[in-house]
Amino acid sequence: MQVIIGCDGVNSVVASIVGLNSSRHFSTCAIRGVTHYQTLHPFGTAFYLFDKDGVRLGLLPINHNDVYWFLTRKLTSTDSMVSKDQKLIKESTVEAIKGFPNHITEMINNSDVDSLHLTDQMRYRAPWDLLRTKFCKGTVTLAGDALHAMAPFLAQGGSASLEDAVVLARCLSQNMGIALDPTGMKAARAALDQYAKERKMRVFWLSLETFVVGTMHDTSALLVELRSWIILTDQRRSYHLEKLIWRIELD
Ligand SMILES: Cc1cc2nc3c(=O)[nH]c(=O)nc-3n(C[C@H](O)[C@H](O)[C@H](O)COP(=O)(O)OP(=O)(O)OC[C@H]3O[C@@H](n4cnc5c(N)ncnc54)[C@H](O)[C@@H]3O)c2cc1C
Repeated sequence: MQVIIGCDGVNSVVASIVGLNSSRHFSTCAIRGVTHYQTLHPFGTAFYLFDKDGVRLGLLPINHNDVYWFLTRKLTSTDSMVSKDQKLIKESTVEAIKGFPNHITEMINNSDVDSLHLTDQMRYRAPWDLLRTKFCKGTVTLAGDALHAMAPFLAQGGSASLEDAVVLARCLSQNMGIALDPTGMKAARAALDQYAKERKMRVFWLSLETFVVGTMHDTSALLVELRSWIILTDQRRSYHLEKLIWRIELD
């Protein structure tokens, strides 16, 4: 019996075997880094989000001395070159946060250069593609970003991938007892069919939400407000962070 589960990420080659089109990319890039403070950092344990002129900066303390942060901004034509040089990543980040509060500028200036990473191709799976395709062909299927590339906008790509794994394992175990199936092929096909049916609407809605939020990223103030509301509502629903999130709109 041969089963292929394509977990090969946003540029999946297995996706084309099951009939999905290539993933598409947003015009936004993401920069991530870590800053170490010799003494206590000023952020306590809260998750902060800052928004200014289409630049979003989020930060989450790891412990009393280390802070993880991320920034999203519009992609520029030089970003693929910038992404290869961590010093340039830092320079472009300092440039992007002009006008942010001093403690944010300090955090970026003091970030660990080795920790910096720029993702210039943030990709998504077109939701309508998922509706028209079964994403399972014989004993070939997909899981994780290969199925539902989601970029970071909902912060749920990782957990959605784990959901895939749990549902797939359950479908396989439920079908493995199929009688009169010496090769196991019938059982595997039934399991993958069941998996595709169970995941279809879940990954469709996640991909739709990602598409809408990502597309709004560089649009009008009203849409940015709506996008922030969707993200915060989603995060609150998922992680019960009501009392932990501070969101700051900068003029
Ligand atoms: C900037 C950014 C921030 C994010 N932040 C969050 C977050 O806060 N929370 C969250 O839950 N998610 C987040 N995500 C999404 C999360 O990273 C992904 O959803 C998750 O990594 C998907 O896991 P995966 O195993 O499906 O794919 P990947 O992690 O992409 O792994 C795919 C693997 O397959 C390998 N591969 C590819 N092609 C082949 C091949 N032909 N042969 C062999 N191997 C191959 C690749 O090398 C890679 O190791 C973020 C994404 C981005 C871009």
